[in-house]
Amino acid sequence: MEALSRHELLACMQCGVCVGSCPLSTRSTLNVRRITASLMTKSLEVGDELWDCTTCYLCVYRCPRGTKPLDLIIELRSERVEAGKIPPTLRDSLENTFKQGNPWGKSRVKRGEWASGLGIKRLLELEDSKILLFTCCASAYDPRAQEAARALVKVLKAAGVEPAFLGEDEVCCGNEVYNIGELGLFEELMETNKANMGEGVETIITTSPHCYYAFKNRYLGLKAEVLHYTQFLARLLDEGLLKLKGLADVVVTYHDPCYLGRRSGVYEEPRKLLKAIRGVKLVEMERSRSRSLCCEGGGGRMWFEGPPGRRLAEVRVVEASSTGASILATACPFCLANLEDGVKTAGLEDKLRVMDVAELLAQALPSS
Ligand code: SF4
Ligand code: SF4
Repeated sequence: MEALSRHELLACMQCGVCVGSCPLSTRSTLNVRRITASLMTKSLEVGDELWDCTTCYLCVYRCPRGTKPLDLIIELRSERVEAGKIPPTLRDSLENTFKQGNPWGKSRVKRGEWASGLGIKRLLELEDSKILLFTCCASAYDPRAQEAARALVKVLKAAGVEPAFLGEDEVCCGNEVYNIGELGLFEELMETNKANMGEGVETIITTSPHCYYAFKNRYLGLKAEVLHYTQFLARLLDEGLLKLKGLADVVVTYHDPCYLGRRSGVYEEPRKLLKAIRGVKLVEMERSRSRSLCCEGGGGRMWFEGPPGRRLAEVRVVEASSTGASILATACPFCLANLEDGVKTAGLEDKLRVMDVAELLAQALPSS
């Protein structure tokens, strides 16, 4: 586990910036300042609101004392997981991940089906492959995220890159398992993936910022270079290997996923790719880059409803639409799903379309 320093927590001056920053604070009784205070006074009183946190990182990012209240939330969750005090839907997602390697409990042996007909091969069929595409559970099983993953493969192949993938040898990266606090299961998933990635792979490309973050920060001893797909494609663009034609004039705004932007500092590459498409006019939302509003997909919240009220994804799509954009681009399978739901609940289907950056690029390929 990322070391939780109680000493660091003692630096908390109870200013409340974390609570003021927390995007859930208007809907949930989750109060990070109070949780930190109760730790210091050893009078912890926190209920099920502990599970509302999306791990969006804004409280850590803004804390003027460098305190990391999010680490405390994960530690408290971990204690509850140990004690079996966990909401049923989250418990199910963990059991599914243990049994089938993915939180939805889809068949393990069907994990590679998303790639059928794309002409890419499993790593075990390609012993000398140096580039591995790590798919993510959502990209492997969710029909909408599958479309984005298939578009990504199309773009990679157009640039002359033939990645291998793990197929049924891949299991969940475990990032959200860790965030839910099931640290033992996270270790098992990490060891399985590391063993199946082998020693020969030099570059791992991820479809999801959550896998990216896990590999970069939580997988110990991973030797391969890890890149989110937007970083890898931006590199291909710089090298002149990714060639794009123009699209009909379109206004696009970009939603920074928490785990790619605020947590990993990857802001430029997705924008660079979008700007490389002739005809795309990129406009920014007021809350962009490090200020980006969470879609509510992290921290296990894909499997836990959370507090009642207007969901953040719905707030976000209204922000996106107010820029005048007709396309809201993102680069995360969880964001893709939540923002699409937000468009429906906000009644913006006629005005705003949510697309993955890879999908826009695939449409802009010379062969399209
Ligand atoms: S922002 Fe930091 S210092 Fe201020 S209350 Fe929150 S944890 Fe404490
Ligand atoms: S990580 Fe985000 S959702 Fe969780 S407590 Fe901090 S600001 Fe709130």
